[in-house]
Parts: sequence; C-alpha cells; structure tokens
Amino acid sequence: MLSCRQLFERLSEFLDGELSEDVCAHIRAHLSECAPCQTFFRTLEETVRLCQQLPSPPLPEEVRRDVQERLRAEWRRRFARSERSN
Ligand SMILES: [Zn+2]
Repeated sequence: MLSCRQLFERLSEFLDGELSEDVCAHIRAHLSECAPCQTFFRTLEETVRLCQQLPSPPLPEEVRRDVQERLRAEWRRRFARSERSN
C-alpha cells in the first residue's frame, strides 16, 4: 500500500497517464480507502480539467510547476497533522 505522501508524489503523473497499470492500480486502491487523498485527488483532477478546457495550447511548464507548487503547499497544510506513516 502506498503512503499518502507517495501517492501525492505520483498524482500528477497518474492524471497524465504516465504511470504503469501496476502503479495506477496501487493508486486507485489507496484512493478508494483514503478519504483525504480522495478529496485531494478530486481537487487536482478538477484543476487539470479546467486547465485542459482553456482554448490555448498546453500549459507552459512554468505555469504547470506553479500550479503543482500551490497544490503541494495546500496538501502540506491539509495533511500536516493527519498524515499517516504507513
Ligand atoms: Zn492517503
């Protein structure tokens, strides 16, 4: 089972479809059992979808990194106290 942190580290790759089916299965399993990660995943998914709907070319790497940084900060805030060490 992935830890919450491990899941978070791979979430954007997961959404981009860059992970192997094996890893995706682990991530889905974690998401099905971990409410905080589920919530976070939905937020991230929604953000990505909104970005993809913009009538412009794919996000520049810089903007993309900025979004990821913000999500990372948000995630830290949310998980700072409740993170499990499994
Ligand atoms: Zn989790």
